[in-house]
Amino acid sequence: MSLPIRRPLSVLALALTALFAVAAAPPAAADPAAQEETEMAGFGGGSDAAEASHPRTPEGAAAFVEAAEADLSALLSAAERAAWVQATYITVDTQAIAAAANEEFLAAASRYAKEAARFDGLELPFDVARRLKILKLGGSLAAPSDPELTRELTRIAAGLEAAYGSGEWCPEGRDELAGDTSGDGCLDLEEMTIVLAESRAAEQLLEVWNGWRTVSPPMRADYRRFVELANMGARELGFADTGAMWRSGYDMPPEEFAAELDRLWGQVRPLYEALHCHVRARLREHYGDAVPAGGPIPAHLLGNMWAQSWDNVYELVAPPDADPGYDLTDRLVAEGYDPLRMVRSGENFFSSLGFAPLPDTFWERSMFTKPADRDVVCHASAWDVDQVEDLRIKMCIKITAEDFRTIHHELGHNYYQRAYNELPFLYRNSANDGFHEAIGDVIALSVTPSYLVEIGLLESEPDPAKDLGLLMRDALDKVAFLPFGLLIDQWRWKVFSGEIPPEGYNQGWWGLRLKYQGIAPPVERTEEHFDPGAKYHIPGNTPYTRYFLAHVLQFQFHRDLCELAGYVGPLNRCTIYGSEQAGERLAKMLAMGQSRPWPEALEVISGSGEMDATAILDYFAPLKAWLDEQNAGRQCGW
Ligand SMILES: [Zn+2]
Repeated sequence: MSLPIRRPLSVLALALTALFAVAAAPPAAADPAAQEETEMAGFGGGSDAAEASHPRTPEGAAAFVEAAEADLSALLSAAERAAWVQATYITVDTQAIAAAANEEFLAAASRYAKEAARFDGLELPFDVARRLKILKLGGSLAAPSDPELTRELTRIAAGLEAAYGSGEWCPEGRDELAGDTSGDGCLDLEEMTIVLAESRAAEQLLEVWNGWRTVSPPMRADYRRFVELANMGARELGFADTGAMWRSGYDMPPEEFAAELDRLWGQVRPLYEALHCHVRARLREHYGDAVPAGGPIPAHLLGNMWAQSWDNVYELVAPPDADPGYDLTDRLVAEGYDPLRMVRSGENFFSSLGFAPLPDTFWERSMFTKPADRDVVCHASAWDVDQVEDLRIKMCIKITAEDFRTIHHELGHNYYQRAYNELPFLYRNSANDGFHEAIGDVIALSVTPSYLVEIGLLESEPDPAKDLGLLMRDALDKVAFLPFGLLIDQWRWKVFSGEIPPEGYNQGWWGLRLKYQGIAPPVERTEEHFDPGAKYHIPGNTPYTRYFLAHVLQFQFHRDLCELAGYVGPLNRCTIYGSEQAGERLAKMLAMGQSRPWPEALEVISGSGEMDATAILDYFAPLKAWLDEQNAGRQCGW
């Protein structure tokens, strides 16, 4: 099993790790949608002591917010420091120290969230009202004020996480178990992930797919109770249920936000269907009748445990002559790049946009390489230890194209964090939770051939006709992800609202998988199973819509910034490197943090406060044309 590690609190000011228990992080490869997912944000420990240290007046509310910010900021810095030491030096002691600091922060955050509700209904200045709301919405879990029930909720939450984190499949009576690298006769998720990615034997894939789903049925009863208790807490804060509480974090009425997501999905659905159609046809060529000609794709054949991104089946579906003509990994090695030089390149990207250099402490305190003498968490992440300027990244950098892009992505977080560091503590966050990841990715999208030419890594740009392979790879990763990114919370919102009842958990899940993804289970599923529990974010109670938003926003930002940079040409070839116009606008938006409703932040770059997924269509236009040719004569849809 994975070590009981926690992830950084850094990305979101109030991104909390597990409640009381230390979170078992999902394997790094589990979610390509997230470079560093923030774990469940839990506000546990109800307090009915609404101490009247701050009277229920506008002045009292303002003073309360200030006091809460000062306290939380100090506690978060302490928790961050402890978390940093833990992540870069994993021992029993550093884990215990980090867990204690985290608990202290959580308990305080929980107390303040409850107290913030005391000022409901008062006429308040915008900045006081907004920060109170952020305080209330800071967690993804609200505990009931009855301490007995809170204890039960935290126990269940920790148990669900632990069940997932320690999950393994141990088939009986097997002399040899393919993929069992540890040789213990069992496969854990990490081992199964590799089998799913690499095996092309349908029988083995099915077995392992089923194997992982033996872990989740025992979670079902607990999850049902978890939903009841979490809803009690959400109602105490004034929300209809936990799903409504989550949707309230988007500066618009919850129903409107749900409709907005449907609209965005409608924009990209034709591209997804074209990709689905081609991938299904190619998989059918390989696997035969196991893949229906005109129906949903069986979930075990897409190279990923959840069929959420399909890049592992690239070689089965790749266009012919897909070689882009250069290999960035080879180029980095040939030019003698080392980890420090890779990070310096990333900084140089931001400098070219007009951002100030990173502080000296960044270079002194970051972890760029895997230390030889101790265990560390290698999963790449960006940190903002004091919420002001103690920026760091933590990576085990290898000289590869992937890590080169990841560095640009992580630095995107760091520059965002620094941009909003003069705002009040509760505003030091991205405009909504999709923005932080989107900014990291939008910078990574600018790592294009022309950028590589500019920094001397390539001699000349290859012909854009060579881009189909790269676009296919990106589409298998990012376009394939879109319906999955949407449906996780579609299921959960319905579960929290009661529209999907406990006796229909699994049926509801597969109904949405079919509707959005065109994916079907390879074997019959019943209510004896609990397949949602086999995806980390369900037992981990981590909201998921942010990943869908980040996937939409990154392309929108990319298109708009490219336009500001004066770029003309295929969108996938654009880099904003060297554009001060793009940089200026980007900096302006980043500096707003969470201080204004997110459409206002979006407007700074896009000129409109509306999200627009058509940039995805523009970006993948050459691939879509190719897919349409391939799909001519095929029966698409499911
Ligand atoms: Zn990230």
